[in-house]
Amino acid sequence: MEFEAVIGLEVHAQLKTNTKIFCSCSTVFGAAPNTHTCPVCLGLPGVLPVLNRKVVEYTLRMALATDCQIASESRFARKNYFYPDLPKGYQISQYELPIAEHGHVDIDINAAAKRIGITRIHMEEDAGKLVHDPDRPVSYVDFNRTGVPLMEIVSEPDLRSPAEAGAYLRQLRAIIRYLNIGDGNMEEGSFRCDANVSVRPQGQETLGTRTELKNLNSFKHVENALRFEIERQIELLVDGGQVVQETRLWDATRNRTTSMRGKEEAHDYRYFPDPDLLPLAIDKQWIASVKQALPELPRTKKIRFMRDYQLSATDADFLTSDKAIAAYFETCLNAFKDPKTVANWVMGNLMGYLNAQGKTIQQSPIAPDNLAGLLILIKNATISGKIAKTVFEEMTQTGQSAEDIVKAQGLQQVTDTGAIAKEVDAVLANFPDEVAAYRDGKHKLLGFFVGQVMQATRGKANPQMVNELLRKKLKA
Ligand SMILES: [Zn+2]
Repeated sequence: MEFEAVIGLEVHAQLKTNTKIFCSCSTVFGAAPNTHTCPVCLGLPGVLPVLNRKVVEYTLRMALATDCQIASESRFARKNYFYPDLPKGYQISQYELPIAEHGHVDIDINAAAKRIGITRIHMEEDAGKLVHDPDRPVSYVDFNRTGVPLMEIVSEPDLRSPAEAGAYLRQLRAIIRYLNIGDGNMEEGSFRCDANVSVRPQGQETLGTRTELKNLNSFKHVENALRFEIERQIELLVDGGQVVQETRLWDATRNRTTSMRGKEEAHDYRYFPDPDLLPLAIDKQWIASVKQALPELPRTKKIRFMRDYQLSATDADFLTSDKAIAAYFETCLNAFKDPKTVANWVMGNLMGYLNAQGKTIQQSPIAPDNLAGLLILIKNATISGKIAKTVFEEMTQTGQSAEDIVKAQGLQQVTDTGAIAKEVDAVLANFPDEVAAYRDGKHKLLGFFVGQVMQATRGKANPQMVNELLRKKLKA
């Protein structure tokens, strides 16, 4: 029997606000433990939360970018549970009335577009962090993270494979970064994902029993965990067993999921509207102004790059994965109008250099105009492709323009036939045995002569002209 996997993802993205969601404590990461706290986020009695307007605005941006319907009135609720990192004994989260519902995100999978439904997007606060001492039976708690704003994005169970889940997550992260509302960094925990997964016989309508996977802190872990879990569930069913609804943890070192606890139901949390917070009403003008200010989104940009610049899907995907890379590419293109060449240099030499240095494109020592300048020098044959590599390296060191470097170091290509002929004659005079061998039919030696002439001219001779002259003179 053939099985099909059904996957839905819940993503928690930390919003890049300066202050927490219900108090004015700083959200800056890495401060000494418990220095970014106040009576509100410590849950002391008698305090009142005040909603951060930026959190609403950022969530609105995401909701509009994913074509969600915005609720004219939404609510915050208390999700009650005990844990030492939750000083209030409840987490404030939107539950029954979220700010946004019924949206979608389009992904490309095997060159075909697929629409993934967004069930809901809501706002909530993060909990604190427990630090366990590895040497002693002691745990510490850090409340700096308590009250940091999170946006939860819940997808419909529309994903059918680990690869689709990966593509969806990457698309969400790209949108969040384009909107400048979060850094989407999975390794640092500012972009977290839980996955619901079940399997069913191909063609069956009803859903199988699902498990929830937690602890997926990299894209690779998400895909590996899903792959393992799908296999596990299929094997269970084939052997006549049943899948138990539960929460499972991904163990990346042992490459498997393990049972963590029985799945809790919503009623276990005894949700009820937070009496300290008014219903959130968002007026139409605010929605309209946020919508109007949305940037071009990554997939729209990708489609435009493929259409206007005739780039492959892979190239367009890469160039639009980061808004700053896309902007760099297009600025470069303003001065040098050959998209494929610009794309190759940006994705190859430039990104290769930046990645090796651990730098982002914003930190590139080569300004886009300067990269275009280098490409112009190659195109009009002022320098050879080989010299261009040297000039490029010099540009990364000095930040100077290609033109200045070429002028200062006299790197212009020698295209003067007379000058090249002189070098060719000198080389032929220096290697009489090789010349004789060549004329005897050992034509492989041509490469040797070219190498000698290039060396004598420090790589500046036009290689095509060197080739032609050598052939002509060796025939004689
Ligand atoms: Zn606080």
